[in-house]
Amino acid sequence: MAELEGLEFGKSDFVLLDEVTMEQFMENLKLRFEKGRIYTYIGEVVVSVNPYQQMDIYGKETIDAYRGRELYENPPHLYAVSDAAYKAMKRRAKDTCIVISGESGAGKTEASKYIMQYIAAITNPSQRKEVESVKNVLLKSNCVLEAFGNAKTNRNDNSSRFGKYMDINFNFNGDPTGGHINNYLLEKSRVVHQQEGERNFHSFYQLLRGGSQDMLASFHLVNDPAVYTYTKEGATSNNDRSSHKAVMSALEVIGFTKEEINSIYQILASILLLGNMQFESDGESVQIQGLEAVNQISELTDTEPDSVSKTLLYRTVATGGGEVIEKGHTEQEACFGRDAFAKALYERLFGWIVSRINSVIEVKDYNPVLHGKNTVIGVLDIYGFEIFDNNSFEQFCINYCNEKLQQLFIELILRQEQGEYQREGITWQHIDYFNNQIIVDLVEQSHKGIISILDEACLTVGKVTDTVCLDSMDTKLAQHPHYTSRKLSPADKTMDFQKDFRIRHYAGDVTYSVEGFLDKNKDMLYQDFKRLMYNSANPVLKEMWPDGHLSITEVTKRPLTAATLFKNSIVALVDKLACKEPYYVRCIKPNEVKSPVLFDDARCEHQVAYLGLMENVMVRRAGFAYRQPYARFLQRYKMTCEYTWPNHLMASDREAVEAIVTQHGFQDDVAYGHTKLFVRTPRSLFTLEQERAAL
Ligand code: ATP
Ligand code: MG
Repeated sequence: MAELEGLEFGKSDFVLLDEVTMEQFMENLKLRFEKGRIYTYIGEVVVSVNPYQQMDIYGKETIDAYRGRELYENPPHLYAVSDAAYKAMKRRAKDTCIVISGESGAGKTEASKYIMQYIAAITNPSQRKEVESVKNVLLKSNCVLEAFGNAKTNRNDNSSRFGKYMDINFNFNGDPTGGHINNYLLEKSRVVHQQEGERNFHSFYQLLRGGSQDMLASFHLVNDPAVYTYTKEGATSNNDRSSHKAVMSALEVIGFTKEEINSIYQILASILLLGNMQFESDGESVQIQGLEAVNQISELTDTEPDSVSKTLLYRTVATGGGEVIEKGHTEQEACFGRDAFAKALYERLFGWIVSRINSVIEVKDYNPVLHGKNTVIGVLDIYGFEIFDNNSFEQFCINYCNEKLQQLFIELILRQEQGEYQREGITWQHIDYFNNQIIVDLVEQSHKGIISILDEACLTVGKVTDTVCLDSMDTKLAQHPHYTSRKLSPADKTMDFQKDFRIRHYAGDVTYSVEGFLDKNKDMLYQDFKRLMYNSANPVLKEMWPDGHLSITEVTKRPLTAATLFKNSIVALVDKLACKEPYYVRCIKPNEVKSPVLFDDARCEHQVAYLGLMENVMVRRAGFAYRQPYARFLQRYKMTCEYTWPNHLMASDREAVEAIVTQHGFQDDVAYGHTKLFVRTPRSLFTLEQERAAL
């Protein structure tokens, strides 16, 4: 437990509070924030408060101070947990992961970057070229992913609109040999629509503001975001131009070819041009206004102009009799198709960029027999809980993801901890915490859960509307304690009869508007667009649309819905995390106005409550920091005690361990379990380590 700072900075570990009350917790958090101490521990968990100002705590000297040290030897810092995760990986060959959570703007992405920088700084002391190049690609990938996956929102000027989990692989030397990035649910609706005051993804503005005149001219673009429907909202920013340069250079360093880079920007240009495309109807058929854009898009995507216009105006459908016909769109369908196409182009582009980076950093030619076990540190930076004025399908998915992560936190930190004390027969006062499994079930249970009900509605042939789907949820979930709606609670005037349902999440109540749920869940894109792209003469585009080779009669099988795909990816993520030794960074946003001096008590308290930090302190305080099976403890420390060295004189390993502990005088700091010794404070072990080293 870190105690190295003076008391004027508050307690550096919440475990050291005189009393574990919300009041004391908040007082300490606020005091530390005001004194510029943005990190505080709960045992090994780092609580971080966004400073909203540049702090002088990430430089080389700081890195050197934390390198190879134990957690309690320095003031709390992200570097200390990064080092702990690294040491566990290197010394004990454990796969570890660092889970960063918190709401939008709380500082997750910044934290993940400092963690990666720290790991990069402490590895490869001999500067081997292959390792340096892997590190470089890993670091540069952040810049690219932020350009394409981040956007200005009303909460955060650089908000990640996708979830990211990155594995870093290490060889037996502890040097990075590669990595893998998984991305989760990109908020692609942003491509075609942004809320007031928000922006589209940075990449569009970077191209328009930073692209050379030649480049823009060849893409049929002008350097003004206000001209394009998809970017006209929030067209101003001062660093798009310099970011464009940085992204271009990062793409090159990573190893994207000139053709690939060009294709990326051609796709962005096509999306912008698509967005400006209008349709007109003469009552009978629908036409595209101005064919110039069609020619430009066909040029940029290496497709035939006729095919482009046909795909925008018609869709191929298979009739019941197996006949294939072309059906003209209504004006509304044409607009829907255009926007769906723009979103899909962007989503596939993003996915392709991630997989292209993965192909560069994947570990090649690794032979565990020759090179030893390949170990992994995973870093998770994923969207936090979201409660907006209008909550839609995206918030539903994001909040479900947070329920799953909270469940994992409970499983790993709270339940396992209590379970272990019980198994080992150690006196333990049970701590109550809210187990959110019931909410996870509400969303994901097969047949009965919300996702199943949504999927069922999407599969039903005929006119199933969002409202019909809401009725179905109301009927099936009426009894669920965490679900309600206006029909079920008629007195609650804050909900709309036709549209709203409410989930009582562990982090608070969220009212979702069901409007658009079915469309977003179906995530429909006419097959004709896929075929158009698959038939592109540009190999990069073709690669992004492998499913475009299917003919209409082959695609009648329903694809998985967006919610189900997301659920599957989150279940896989949780499985991946659950088999690693976890480290947690819990980020808190101090205020809504990005101020470095304002600590909004109510907002912070709310976050502390829903992150479960109080429960975390209680479990930690009642518990023990270290535990080791008797035999292993004895093996390591037997030489420090006359009863165990050079000869083991005791009747059992447990008694031998008792002799060591007593001889060193920390018997009040331990408990003896059935198979393991439990040590409350790390300092006791530290003393033993020093003695052992001195022998
Ligand atoms: P989102 O969920 O929207 O992606 P986030 O939790 O990833 O949010 P960040 O983008 O990391 O939030 O942080 C938001 C902003 O807060 C940063 O752009 C930066 O200005 C500031 N910030 C966060 N952490 C730090 C830090 N350690 N030092 C200085 N500024 C910081
Ligand atoms: Mg982020």
